[in-house]
Amino acid sequence: MERVRIALQKSGRLSEDSLSLLKNCGLHIDRSKDQLFCRVKELPIDILMIRDDDILGFVGSGICDLGIVGENVFAEKQESARIVERLGFSFCRLSIAVPESSTYQNLKDLDEKTIATSYPALLQKALLKQGVKAKILDMTGSVEVAPRLKIADAICDIVASGATLTANNLREIEVLLESEALLIRSSKKLCEEKEKTIQRLWNRMRGTLQATDSKYIMLHAEKARLPDIVRLLPGAESPTVLPLQGSEDEIAVHAVCREAVFWETLEKLEEAGASAILVLPIEKMMNCERKERKYERYFEPCSL
Ligand code: ATP
Ligand code: MG
Repeated sequence: MERVRIALQKSGRLSEDSLSLLKNCGLHIDRSKDQLFCRVKELPIDILMIRDDDILGFVGSGICDLGIVGENVFAEKQESARIVERLGFSFCRLSIAVPESSTYQNLKDLDEKTIATSYPALLQKALLKQGVKAKILDMTGSVEVAPRLKIADAICDIVASGATLTANNLREIEVLLESEALLIRSSKKLCEEKEKTIQRLWNRMRGTLQATDSKYIMLHAEKARLPDIVRLLPGAESPTVLPLQGSEDEIAVHAVCREAVFWETLEKLEEAGASAILVLPIEKMMNCERKERKYERYFEPCSL
């Protein structure tokens, strides 16, 4: 049986969530700390644990069939891999930052200046787009020290919480790219066996991803308030309405909400007359697609 190979980051800011996504799909990955190659028992899948910088190349060249990589890396390197879906973790952004004490307000202010970065292609694109003539200083790491060393006037780097910038007296002035983890696949044509395995894994992933975004809401309300309440339920279609034992005009409403349920929503529901409001996590979902089948758009068979 042909086994599907998936490239994941060995250790770092992508690896934990990547592994737990696969675990939620029912795949058990036993690995010792130094093991680079893991066989999955449940499906014909092998996992390759590598540096995040190598993932795109491995998938692009067809050594691996699938991979999980940051959008920042995907956008920087021109590889012929394709995005299957955004995965909703490892959020960060590629930003321009300058010393706190400087007066630069945006990228345009950096004309004729030097910008240090590990993302020369993305920076070049942004400079061209905005007609800015800045010099790019290509660095492989520790970009944030460049202004202090007086080798650059600004940096273009990944920012998540901004703590690294603050620690280095830097100020973010412009976001070039918003990034999250991407599931990518090789653009090469795969054999039918592999396609079947990928489709099975993908169905499970879709179920997990949908469940993460979704919540099950239960509440009580007066029958007359039902239309107001349904309008407030985020991303819910046709809620279930049940009678309440011993009450003529009160009902119970159960609904799967496909979008985040915030405290503000619960407060609005309460104002609209809802009581006994419960919000429950959903572990898995199967076959409860909405009409627009969001996750399938990239999955037509590809050829190269
Ligand atoms: P490797 O040793 O595999 O080369 P690395 O040090 O280059 O790892 P990490 O810092 O682990 O990379 O980041 C991996 C990816 O996680 C980044 O490319 C980016 O997409 C995302 N990322 C970076 N910083 C953060 C952060 N602070 N929070 C969440 N995600 C982040
Ligand atoms: Mg790396």
